[in-house]
Amino acid sequence: MKTAGKLVVLGSINADHILNLESFPTPGETVTGSQYQVAFGGKGANQAVAAGRSGADIAFIACTGDDDTGARVRKQLESDHIDVTPVSVVAGESTGVALIFVNGEGENVIGIHAGANAALSIERVEAQHALIANASALLMQLESPVESVLAAARIAQQNHTTVALNPAPARELSDELLALVDIITPNETEAEKLTGIRVDSDEDAARAAQALHAKGIKTVIITLGSRGVWVSVSGEGKRVSGFKVKAIDTIAAGDTFNGALLTALLEEKTLDEAIRFAHAAAAIAVTRKGAQPSVPWRKEIDDFLS
Ligand code: ADP
Repeated sequence: MKTAGKLVVLGSINADHILNLESFPTPGETVTGSQYQVAFGGKGANQAVAAGRSGADIAFIACTGDDDTGARVRKQLESDHIDVTPVSVVAGESTGVALIFVNGEGENVIGIHAGANAALSIERVEAQHALIANASALLMQLESPVESVLAAARIAQQNHTTVALNPAPARELSDELLALVDIITPNETEAEKLTGIRVDSDEDAARAAQALHAKGIKTVIITLGSRGVWVSVSGEGKRVSGFKVKAIDTIAAGDTFNGALLTALLEEKTLDEAIRFAHAAAAIAVTRKGAQPSVPWRKEIDDFLS
């Protein structure tokens, strides 16, 4: 396992269109919203931004459409210290979109159009073979075609590149893919989807972690929202609390945690130190609104921890 060096994130890019309205429209109804904003999101992009802003040497494998949104997203990612050379521009496709309605109670309903994200094919992954093989770690999620995630994990494993998987959104995964993963970071819902074990307590988290170890994964970190994480390495588990803050919006909390965690691990911090760093980054993010706008820069994390 290589411990210092380049991080490669592979994943999705979306433009989030967020409409605040008093109540959700029912079929056939039109409701006028009170506030509308477009912010860049997508789990892959959010995690890449978290890594870039927290100081990683990072390249991002992803796809945008050949539209105006794609051009703006790539420019924004560059300004977040991300190497976007491996971002493909897919002719005739639109950049991924999430349409998000938020009601007066703060609940949301989301519809997603994968758009160019669906074009992140095995061929596109194989075109980045050298990048993945020479990296120290590869961080992925599940908003990209799962066969491409598998192909990238295979290249990484064959070349001793650490494979980190944030298995979100929740879905079942093959034993073949899980066996290639070194570090997995599900939240409670995703851990239940993967193991069938409902995670309501530390004891449940320990059992879910054991089930993931049994699939061949050495390091399991189950994120527990405001309760922190359950971390288990080769069967030795404990809970590590996060920081107490006044949370106003937990969108991208997990994404920020993942990007910052990998940044810290590639600086040769211990796993405990890396979790503390990631907790700090995520704690800052939940005190701010939105996905990428809430992700902190390195100085903010260092100041928070000092
Ligand atoms: P996801 O967004 O993927 O569901 P979680 O909700 O489990 O992820 O949160 C991921 C991490 O974000 C937590 O481990 C913690 O570090 C941080 N976090 C989430 N919610 C809070 C909160 N209310 N207060 C402080 N930190 C939080």
